[in-house]
Amino acid sequence: MINETWRLIARPVGLFKDSDFEWREEAVPSLGEGDVLVRTIYISLDPTNRIWATQVSYMPVIPLGEVMRGGAVGVVEDSRHHGFQKGDIVQGMLGWQRYAVSSGSTLSKLPRGTPLIPFFGVLGHIGLTAYFGLLDIGKRKEGETLVVSAAAGAVGSLVGQIGKIKGCYVAGIAGSEDKCRWIRDELGFDVAINYRKEDVYPALQAACPRGIDIYFDNVGGEILDAALALMNLRGRIPLCGMISQYTATGPVAGPANLARLIMTRSRMEGFLVTDYLPRAGEAIPELLRWLQEGRLKFRTDVVNGLEHAPRAINRLFDGTNMGKLIVKVSEEP
Ligand code: NDP
Repeated sequence: MINETWRLIARPVGLFKDSDFEWREEAVPSLGEGDVLVRTIYISLDPTNRIWATQVSYMPVIPLGEVMRGGAVGVVEDSRHHGFQKGDIVQGMLGWQRYAVSSGSTLSKLPRGTPLIPFFGVLGHIGLTAYFGLLDIGKRKEGETLVVSAAAGAVGSLVGQIGKIKGCYVAGIAGSEDKCRWIRDELGFDVAINYRKEDVYPALQAACPRGIDIYFDNVGGEILDAALALMNLRGRIPLCGMISQYTATGPVAGPANLARLIMTRSRMEGFLVTDYLPRAGEAIPELLRWLQEGRLKFRTDVVNGLEHAPRAINRLFDGTNMGKLIVKVSEEP
């Protein structure tokens, strides 16, 4: 059985380049005791993949020469682990490869019938990030003003919609007219700001006449600074991501407006969705219900073919992804 893999062979500088990866075709290793052979179906492409390629973060840096790390869903083809059998649908860090031999202890089974594409979005780590980031870290209250950046993206689009469901006034910041139209006209955001066309600070000031109570930050940099300047008394800033800095090639400037946290007694707090996985059972039924009621909409951007993964991932950084970015590697059973 021949495997196809993308191995990380160089530390990226700026965006990923083709030369950072090597495509290899190699025999699938045989299974040891406790191992499971999984055929990859979908791989999730996430901004954090770029962090894993260069930095020690909440995970070790990916060693050069290893298969590129990536969360994925697949189907069990063979098993020497008592907990898994052929045909089970599993998720785990299967990596950018067609077949993965994984220790069963690193995999988790998805219930039969789980729709796999929504699992990457609303009903998976993205939904949990938006839900707990806004409700647990952001501690939103009825009638508050919520601003979210990367607002047409996977996390951001859900944050804004959950904000609306929970009675907030919602402003979204996104990078194109199409994205702004989508979040305003189809997702129900109150206002949308195109940060590539407008000066963000005055646009936010005009969009948020009562100031900002919650700024859900997905991007960092200048947009964080503009939001900081408009924070209200006891505001909250869930720091979810800093995508504007992941491909930086030099030192990045810190926020200039941190003093505003003191004046307004506001709180800025980082979080990782992994901390909330044990509480997924609180969020998933509610997210599912909103989805079924049509109150949450979600877009998925599926790229066909493992061979396209290295180029596709850069779409998260140039903004050409239209929703949760996924690579389809093989057919669903
Ligand atoms: P998205 O689907 O939002 O895609 C990324 C988007 O970021 C792009 O479409 C682009 O949209 C925007 N973007 C890229 N570069 C910039 C820039 N320089 N300035 C402003 N916007 C930019 O990805 P995700 O929803 O998966 O991730 C969104 C954020 O959430 C990331 O920062 C990610 O790291 C973080 N995250 C954090 C988690 C956690 O546990 N803390 C878990 C999951 C995600 P546009 O066209 O609008 O520029």
